[in-house]
Amino acid sequence: MKNLLGSSITDLETIALNYGHAAYRGRQIYNWLYNYKNKKKNIDQIEVLPLDFRVKLKEDGYKVGELNILEKNLANDGTLKLLLSTGDDQSIECVGIPTEKRLTACLSSQVGCPMDCKFCATGKEGLKRSLKAYEILDQILFIENEMNRKVTNIVFMGMGEPLLNIENLLFSIKSINEDFNISQRKITISTVAIPQMINKLAQKSLQILGKCQFTLAISLHAPNQKIREMIIPSAKNYDINNIVEDCKEFVRKTGRRVSFEYLMLGDLNDNLNDADELSELLKGFQCHVNLIQYNQIDDVQFKQTSFRSLQLFQSRLLNNGTAVSFRRSRGLDKNAACGQLRQNAKYQ
Ligand code: SF4
Repeated sequence: MKNLLGSSITDLETIALNYGHAAYRGRQIYNWLYNYKNKKKNIDQIEVLPLDFRVKLKEDGYKVGELNILEKNLANDGTLKLLLSTGDDQSIECVGIPTEKRLTACLSSQVGCPMDCKFCATGKEGLKRSLKAYEILDQILFIENEMNRKVTNIVFMGMGEPLLNIENLLFSIKSINEDFNISQRKITISTVAIPQMINKLAQKSLQILGKCQFTLAISLHAPNQKIREMIIPSAKNYDINNIVEDCKEFVRKTGRRVSFEYLMLGDLNDNLNDADELSELLKGFQCHVNLIQYNQIDDVQFKQTSFRSLQLFQSRLLNNGTAVSFRRSRGLDKNAACGQLRQNAKYQ
């Protein structure tokens, strides 16, 4: 299957030339493909191209993306969650999170996920497969089309563990950067952390992207190994101290600060001793902690931390000299937590 999505301007000029057309026809496809104002789903819609060229491309199996909408959920705060079907009848999710100045797309990198985090609906179903780069990019087109706005920021925080799909992840980032015109600095990769992969990410980014300016966000969620394994069973393969050491190396190699995501879970990781231990773990290191409010899902054992406990935890980290901010979950009223839309839908 040949997918135009993710093709560079040079790729498209070459395709046009190979079909006996002038190179500018390739540039016309490029301008159509990455202009968010077009409702782009199939080659018939590229009306600027001669009909015979469009017919030929279709006959030869070219497509624009491959996903379809199964379900949409719009929350009161404007957050839009989409459930999308893939060409092989799997389903994935993506979310558009608007503010006045930004539209952040939260993207999936895999169908399902093998990491089995205990707070996550997606993790309960295991991994089906990794997504191709064009399937990652197609999610952006759907969000732009549905929300009628250009996406400005990207977070890989949807379904899947991005570092287990590193090549497709980086090829999609290359296109996001060069074709969708979104700076690497506005892209965040969120990972549970896989042994060896933080180093590999830095190396491969330099190879494939030529630079490494995105933000790496580690889903830490605990101040020590014991608590982390209670939340993320796969964490037993990667000691928390080794994760921090690998992150220090990442900062040395890339010059980019690392973020640590910390989901506040009532009576599990939210007391002041936990805050002190977290500060000790991360001290002397160019990093930042994001505290996140937990979205309760029906049949999982964790509970939400009170807002008061969250404030005390945050103040304690600040007093300890740890850079910290608090991120409120968006779209709480419409299944906006990771994996929830898919789990509640009839499409599995
Ligand atoms: S939280 Fe992320 S890494 Fe963990 S199981 Fe869910 S999708 Fe996978």
